[in-house]
Amino acid sequence: MGNKRFETIFDFARHGYATEVVCACGHVGVLEPQGVVGRFMRERWPTNSLATTRDLLKCSSCGERPERIGPAMR
Ligand SMILES: [Zn+2]
Repeated sequence: MGNKRFETIFDFARHGYATEVVCACGHVGVLEPQGVVGRFMRERWPTNSLATTRDLLKCSSCGERPERIGPAMR
C-alpha cells in the first residue's frame, strides 16, 4: 500500500480497491468500487471519514454495524 492515504472509501475506489466490510459476526462483505462511489454520491451520504461511512453501513448477515471497513487486498 506504500504511503497512499486512505481516508474515505473514495480513496479506495480511486486506487482501484474494493471496500471490505468486516463484521463482528464474522461476515465479510466486499463493495465493488464502481458500485460504492455511485451509491454514496446518489444518496449524498457523508463520506468525510471512514468512521462515518462505517456507521452508515449494515452487515448484510446480522444487520449490525460492521466492526471495521478498509481496502480489500486482492
Ligand atoms: Zn454481522
